[in-house]
Amino acid sequence: MREIKGIHHITAIAGPAQENLDFYAGVLGLRLVKRSVNQDDPGTYHLFYADAEGHPGTDLTFFPWAQMAPSREGYGLGSEVSLAVPPGSLAFWSARLERYGVKLGATEVRFGQNALPVIDPHGLKLALVESEDSLGRLFTPWEGSPITVGQQIRGLESARMVERDLVVTTSFLSSALGFIHVGSENGWHRFGVAGGKSGAYVDLRETPTARRGAWGTGSIHHIAWRVDDEVHQLEVRTRVTEEGARPTPVIDRFWFKSVYFLEPGGVLFELATDGPGFAVDEDRAHLGESLVLPPWLESNRATIETKLPPLAMPNADR
Ligand code: ZN
Repeated sequence: MREIKGIHHITAIAGPAQENLDFYAGVLGLRLVKRSVNQDDPGTYHLFYADAEGHPGTDLTFFPWAQMAPSREGYGLGSEVSLAVPPGSLAFWSARLERYGVKLGATEVRFGQNALPVIDPHGLKLALVESEDSLGRLFTPWEGSPITVGQQIRGLESARMVERDLVVTTSFLSSALGFIHVGSENGWHRFGVAGGKSGAYVDLRETPTARRGAWGTGSIHHIAWRVDDEVHQLEVRTRVTEEGARPTPVIDRFWFKSVYFLEPGGVLFELATDGPGFAVDEDRAHLGESLVLPPWLESNRATIETKLPPLAMPNADR
């Protein structure tokens, strides 16, 4: 069986769009590679941040729903996004984030790696993790970033998930998606694919007494896994069905094809194809500069644009 290849992207819920852009592009130095709308709620932006080219595995995306209540922590949700940074760069990051008044935790060691817990402006838990460059993920530095190339975020390291019943989810991860147990430490259980390196593992914790978590600003909305192409996607979709989940049909997200399903513990997953990618409808040099709509929404562009708040790119402050 062909396992999935690792994390494709993670989507989270943010507050006001400008604050989200200021933090992820202006402070963390990611490239805004696509400025679009939520295809199910086109009055809301969908903002995509990644490396210079938007490679699969580097992409963190947001629905800025300014009116939404904060999320409720609990089981059945992703609880933290970790981002890979170069070894030795955490002192730089910690000083930079402090300068911007960002909420930071104390640096910790997780499975042998240095990790800096960070809270984004709308309550999303992040961690910057010093990580060797991944073999499985391409990375192109972003020259327009306020961060020098040697310290730029390399992509998605991992995610944490909280579950009421660990085994129900880990059995599914193994049988449907090809994960294996990599290790356990301090109550966290690491499961990986393709060797379980950077971008190819998740950490799970069981909290049987907690409440069910609920989406809101600051929560992870879904975790998307990489599949090579549409054939691979259908193979995995079939296996997901055989293991008891109920996947959607294939949905054309234009930059990739998507299938969604809930894992048995309640976290929303997606299978996303590696291609065609973000350059399918914009020049590589100008990704993210203007509002891009999928073809079926183009006829409503004027109405959609009046509903979206204006966005200004932050200054590249080194
Ligand atoms: Zn997605």
